[in-house]
Order: sequence, then C-alpha cells, then structure tokens
Amino acid sequence: MNLARLQCIHCGTDFEPSALLYRCRECGDLLDVVYDFPDTDAEQLKHTWRQRRASLAPADVSGVWRYRELIPFYDDVSNIVTYPEGNTPLLEAPESARYVGLNRLQVKHQGYNPTGSFKDNGMTTGVTQAVAVGARAVACASTGNTSASMGAYAARAGLLGVVLIPEGQVAFGKLSQALDYGALTLQIQGDFDTALRLVTEVAPEIGMYILNSINPFRLEGQKTIAVEMLDQRDWQVPDRVVVPGGNLGNSSSLGKGFEELYELGFIDRMPHLTIIQAEGAAPLYKTVTSDHPDKLVTVHAKTLATAIKIGQPVSWKKAMRAMDWTDGWVTQVSEQEIADAKAVIGRDGIGCEPASATTVAGLRKLLVEGTDEPLDPDEDVVVLLTGHVLKDPDYTVRYHLGELYADYVVETTITEKSDHLRSTYANRPIEVPADRDTIVEVIQQHLSHGS
Ligand SMILES: *Cc1c(COP(=O)(O)O)cnc(C)c1O
Repeated sequence: MNLARLQCIHCGTDFEPSALLYRCRECGDLLDVVYDFPDTDAEQLKHTWRQRRASLAPADVSGVWRYRELIPFYDDVSNIVTYPEGNTPLLEAPESARYVGLNRLQVKHQGYNPTGSFKDNGMTTGVTQAVAVGARAVACASTGNTSASMGAYAARAGLLGVVLIPEGQVAFGKLSQALDYGALTLQIQGDFDTALRLVTEVAPEIGMYILNSINPFRLEGQKTIAVEMLDQRDWQVPDRVVVPGGNLGNSSSLGKGFEELYELGFIDRMPHLTIIQAEGAAPLYKTVTSDHPDKLVTVHAKTLATAIKIGQPVSWKKAMRAMDWTDGWVTQVSEQEIADAKAVIGRDGIGCEPASATTVAGLRKLLVEGTDEPLDPDEDVVVLLTGHVLKDPDYTVRYHLGELYADYVVETTITEKSDHLRSTYANRPIEVPADRDTIVEVIQQHLSHGS
C-alpha cells in the first residue's frame, strides 16, 4: 500500500519515495512524505484502530503501525521493522499541575518506549524504509537517544548501525545502549552540529541511510504520537500540547500529524503547539523574536539537557510551519528552571530526563510570569515527556545532593583492582577527529572486516 511521494516543503517538487534523498534536488530545502490519501471515513478508522488493540499481530500491537492508514508508505505490512514501540501512557500529573498553576495537567510519556525515548516512534518507520531501499548500513549523529534507538532497531533489522556522537557530551545511559546494541560508535571531537554535518557528508559515500530527523520517513513515525494521544483521549482535542525543542523534528512531526488529522476530518480544531527550548540552546526562540524570522539565528549550544543541546536545528522551517498551523509559540527556560521542574515531575512518581522537563518549566513560566502568551488555569494541556528518568541518572543524583552545576568537570579513576573480567563481546567506542576522510576510512574498514 504505497501511496507516498517525497515533496519539497519550499518549491513543491515531487520525488520518488524510494530515493535516498533528504533534501530537494532543485532548491535544497527539506522534504515531506506526502500521500494521496484515499477517501477516509474517520469514524470508521477510529473504530478499527481501537479494535486493533485486541489483536496480536505485530503491526496492530505497535502504537505506531496501528495507525498505518496515516503512514501508507510501506509496500507490505509483513516487512515492517517493529519492536513494538509507542503504546506510551497518558498520565495525570497533579503535583506538576499545581507547580505550573493549572487545575489539571496530563503528560504523555514517550520515555516508556523500548529504548526509553520518543526516537523509537520514528526509528521504526525510518528503519523500515532503510530496509525497503536496500541500505547497506544506517547512520546518525546523536546527542544520545537517536543512537540508542537506531542501535537497537538496526540490530533488530540485521543492519550495521553507525553513530557519530559528540565527545563527552552524551549521557552515560544512552552511550551504554549504543555500545550494547552493537552500533559502530564514533566519538567525534566536536559538538552535535559538527557530527550531523559530518554524517550528511560521509553517508552518501558509503551507501548509508541517514536516520536523523532530517529523514522525512522518521518524522512519519513520530507523527503518530499525535494520533495515539488523541486516541487515548477518546479524540478530545487538548487546548495545548507542549514539547521540548532541540533539532525540532518532534515539533515538526506533531504539527504535521495534527494538520493531517484536521484535513482528513478526524478532529475539528487544532491544539496550540508550544515549543520550549533551553536558554543556552534556543535558536528557534531567538529566530522568531528577531527582526528577520525568515532567517535562522544559530547559536553555539550550551545546556546540561544534552538531548536538546543543538545550535543549528535542521527542521526549523518545519517547526515554524507547525507553529503557523497550530497558532503555536516557542519560549525558553533557564537551567535552574529545568532542574526544578524535573524534580517536580519526579514527585508525581513519573520522572524524566532533563530535556523533557523543559515542558513543565516552560508552562510554569507562561502561567506564573505571564510572559509572551497568556494562559488560562483551566486550559486542557498535555505535555510530552520525551525521555526516561534513567537516561541521565548522574544529573538527577547531583541535583538531589545539591551538587549540580551548569559547568563542572569530573574525573573518575579506578583506585584498586583485581580479578579482571574479559570483554569478549566488547564494542568499544572509537575516538576520531572531526574529519570526513578519516571517518569514511574507519567505517569502510569496519564494513570490510564484516564485523
Ligand atoms: C531528541 C530529543 C529531544 C529533542 O527532540 P527534537 O525532535 O530534536 O526537537 C528532546 N528530548 C529528548 C529526550 C530527546 O531524545
């Protein structure tokens, strides 16, 4: 059931969905997956989706592929790569509600995915497409969660995964996942933005399929977070949905999801999409509040919320479009606000990683300070928590011990040792300079050794 084509968001040129393409060949802008949707009976489909919850078929069990009528780019449903993913809880968060000044607050926790973040919702569609186009390997630059997710899905699909991570800036939980799942892990001497530039340069030379959120098929999976959220609310549209903003793939895909649901008659109004960035990594906020919001203001990113430590977000134009569609907004919060909000989310018995806590911090700022945009305490708000509390335990313990600093350096060394254990199946990260030729060489060596 392949009804898809790729389409440039700027000039509208169409391309074959099978193309290993991330940008328009005509103008270089980002691509969407667009569909010729058949006439849909929205009420009938809502019913079908609900019934699939009783099925044991993998595509029905997945909280992404259950909604496959909205992502019809696959040829045969038996070829999908599913873990399964999605099926994440929608929880009441009374402590957080009180903290932000709302009468009620719901959180949809994407950290309860198989690898602990919302990246899995997109990785299932991205890796499915990688298999369909016959990719030799898959690759990503990552602040951690994308590499954890891609590592797992690549292994499940029997593909080599290659991850480029910024040295010393990835939370330990996430690095441990990429290594354990067998991804070839290259630690780049540079930041995330450098790693992403390198992966886009290197991947075509080696025939690797890129699974960063510049890949429009990944965003299709993330789009279904909007669908599952509404299904769980029995199709009551919230007034507002709040998300953290890093590379802005999540904001972009939610915007596309809500827009398509609206166009296809599943919902009759749009929620406002509110994007929250960390002050030290707020290029979108700086852009929309600048005199020239049509030109991205890039920054040298700095925040302890490493998942959103991004200064040059790839999907910023799609995020702008999402804010247009939903009458949305973006704001920024401080490191202190993120840290406190995270602890409050913890007291609801929920918890999340630092980047996710920007949402609650941002809501509080909008309500308490009344800045930027007025909010009503009766608003019906859903915040999206993006990553699991166990992803970055170091941050959490430091906060509770009163030892969290916006800048700090730690060194750990073994002081006594005996009874060494062999690392028979070791997958060591490899340190490489931020140099394209060296990286190509390392990956090619690895591929030719067939390991
Ligand atoms: C990737 C990630 C983000 C940022 O999402 P974007 O789609 O890049 O804006 C936020 N939080 C967590 C936990 C993430 O893993």
